[in-house]
Amino acid sequence: MSKLNLKGMTRAQLVDKLAGIGKERYRADQVIRWLYLQRVREIDRMSNLSRACREHLKTFAFIGQLELVKEELSQDGTRKFLFRLEDGHTIETVLIADKNRLTLCISTQVGCRMGCRFCLTGRSGFERQLSAAEIVDQVIQVAEIIDPESLARGTISNIVMMGMGEPLDNFAEVIKALEIFMYDDGMQFSRRRLTLSTCGLAPRIVELGELVNVSLAVSLNAVDDTRRSQLMPINRRYNLAQLLAACRRYPATNQRRITFEYILFAGLNDSLEDAARLVELVGDLPVKVNLIPFNEHPELPFKRPDHQQIVDFVNFLQDHKVSVMTRRSKGADISAACGQLRAAETAGETISEIELEPET
Ligand code: SAH
Ligand code: SF4
Repeated sequence: MSKLNLKGMTRAQLVDKLAGIGKERYRADQVIRWLYLQRVREIDRMSNLSRACREHLKTFAFIGQLELVKEELSQDGTRKFLFRLEDGHTIETVLIADKNRLTLCISTQVGCRMGCRFCLTGRSGFERQLSAAEIVDQVIQVAEIIDPESLARGTISNIVMMGMGEPLDNFAEVIKALEIFMYDDGMQFSRRRLTLSTCGLAPRIVELGELVNVSLAVSLNAVDDTRRSQLMPINRRYNLAQLLAACRRYPATNQRRITFEYILFAGLNDSLEDAARLVELVGDLPVKVNLIPFNEHPELPFKRPDHQQIVDFVNFLQDHKVSVMTRRSKGADISAACGQLRAAETAGETISEIELEPET
C-alpha cells in the first residue's frame, strides 16, 4: 500500500489511523498543529509525540512537498509560482496583493475538462485531478516562501479556487482541502476567506453548501442558454434555470453573497439588453456581480469591449441596484498565463471613477 501524504489527510482520517493503535484523539490535533503551525517537515521532528506514535505514523504516512520550479514577479506586485508535482506535471499558483489583502489563487486540477471556449486551460484539455495534499501544499509552500518566520498560513488572508481546473469536478479532494484550511488547530481560514469558483455543476453547488458552505463564485458569462451553451459546454448539462435554482439553495446571505462572474466579450454579451437580462436573472438573490473584461489572447477568438461599453454596462447594473465590481487584470506583464489566473483577483479595482462596493 502506498503511503499517504500527511498534508492531505483530514482530521477524521488521522483519528481513524491513529485509533488503530489505541492513540487518543488529541494525537490527531497534535499532528495537525505540528504540520500547519510548526511547519514541521519530518515526522521524526514531531518531538512531543511518543516515539512509538511517530514510528506508527511513518508506517502509513509521509510529508510530501511540491517543488518550486519558477517564480515570476509582476510590476503590480502579483507573484506567480510554478510548482512541479511528483509525476512531473506542473501547476500554477498566483499571489495577488491588494489593499490590505493577500489573496492566493490556487489550482485544483491539472488542466480542465469543462472546455469553456474562452479559457486557455479549458482549451488545453485535462491531465489529472490534484490530490487534497497537492491543493493544500500550494498554500503551505507560498506561505513559507513569502513569510518564512511565521506560523501556519503566514500572511495569506484569502484563498480562491480560481486557478487551473474546475473545483467541483474534483469534489472529494476539494472538500478535504477546504476542511483542512479551516481547522482550528491548523490554518484557521474562516469560510468567508475561502472562495470556490465554479462553471456551474448545479447539484454539487448544493452539496457544497451543505458540506462546507464557503464563499461561492459562479462563472455566469451569459444570460441566455443559447449563448451560455456556446461559450460553456457545461450549460448543456445544467442550464441557467438549474444553475440559478442551485444558487437559490446555497446558504448565502446579504452579508455573504454569491459572486456572479461575468466576462465581458465585445459584441457578444456586453449590450444594455444583456445588462437588463442580468438584472432580471439576479432578481432577489443575494448576489454581487464581478465584471471581468476579457483577457485577450492570440489563440482565443474574442475581444474585450472598449472602455465606454464597460462603463455603460456597470452603470446600468448600478442604476438597477445590483452590487457590481470590475476587475482589472493583474500580473499581465508576467503572463500569469491562463486568462483565469489573471482574472483571479478579487480586488474590485476600478476601471472608472465609479464607486464600487468594498469586499468584506
Ligand atoms: N473552473 C472554475 C474556476 C477557474 S476559472 C470556473 O470556471 O469558475 C476562473 C475564472 O476565470 C472564471 O470565472 C472564468 O470564467 C475566468 N476566465 C477564464 N478565461 C478567461 C479569460 N480569457 N479572460 C477573463 N476571464 C477568464
Ligand atoms: Fe475549466 Fe473554469 Fe476554464 Fe471553464 S473557465 S475551462 S471550468 S477552468
